[in-house]
Amino acid sequence: MALFKKKNYIRINPNRAGDQSSVKKPAVPDNMWAKCPCCKRTLYTKDMGAEKVCPYCGYSFRIGAWERLALTVDEKSFEEWDTDIETKDPLNFPDYLEKITKMQEKTELHEAVLTGKARIDEQEIAIGVMDANFIMGSMGTVVGEKITRLFERATQLRLPVVIFTASGGARMQEGIFSLMQMAKISAALKRHSKAGLLYVTVLTDPTTGGVTASFAMDGDIILAEPQSLIGFAGRRVIEQTIRQKLPDDFQKAEFLLDHGFVDQIVVRNQLREVLSKLIKLHTMKGWE
Ligand SMILES: [Zn+2]
Repeated sequence: MALFKKKNYIRINPNRAGDQSSVKKPAVPDNMWAKCPCCKRTLYTKDMGAEKVCPYCGYSFRIGAWERLALTVDEKSFEEWDTDIETKDPLNFPDYLEKITKMQEKTELHEAVLTGKARIDEQEIAIGVMDANFIMGSMGTVVGEKITRLFERATQLRLPVVIFTASGGARMQEGIFSLMQMAKISAALKRHSKAGLLYVTVLTDPTTGGVTASFAMDGDIILAEPQSLIGFAGRRVIEQTIRQKLPDDFQKAEFLLDHGFVDQIVVRNQLREVLSKLIKLHTMKGWE
């Protein structure tokens, strides 16, 4: 019967347990491990490489615009454009301008998109890279104006445009002024297209809202990174509106490829090569 007897555990008086702050924690750097939001596995960050790709499911972790640029274009070939446009606060939104300053310091970016001229395998392109770390990559007036000017200058210089999208949509702090950017960009984009020039978009995680509804889906060729969230309205909004359950992979890059919204899913470490080939094919002399 000894089996059923209660064991006498030693009880520690919490008041006598001592000061826990003096207990040394093992020295593990913060960024040593990461959890893949897609397959939920815990990863050793070194295994992901500079491209930051999950070795198990291929999910491409979100990276900043400067990191993206370094992975994509030829070294030292980038020339930034339009850093002199200032964000205004048309709605007197509380703490908005302070937030912008804080974001600029944190991300070393001028706004949620980086624009300019660069080269991929010696081929000149106009490039725009959005950064989801800057107020969720939201599109306000400055983002809209920078992308419009990117297309206008590319048309003048007869350059193809490549844009990496990453956005939560229009910037609510600027209200209707954010929404107006969609039409403005689309008009500039059309003039670029009419001039017979190539426009490639690369949809990265996440590409949603007003950005999806305008220039993200207007590319002549639309590429996407594996497992990226791409959509217009949020999943719950759609489910409540149509009163139906949506498939689990709805708004994932793979689902969009199956339904004809995306031309190709490209893993991050092959993106540079694919972009280079596409640009070469579409700018070959004698073919124009
Ligand atoms: Zn994974």
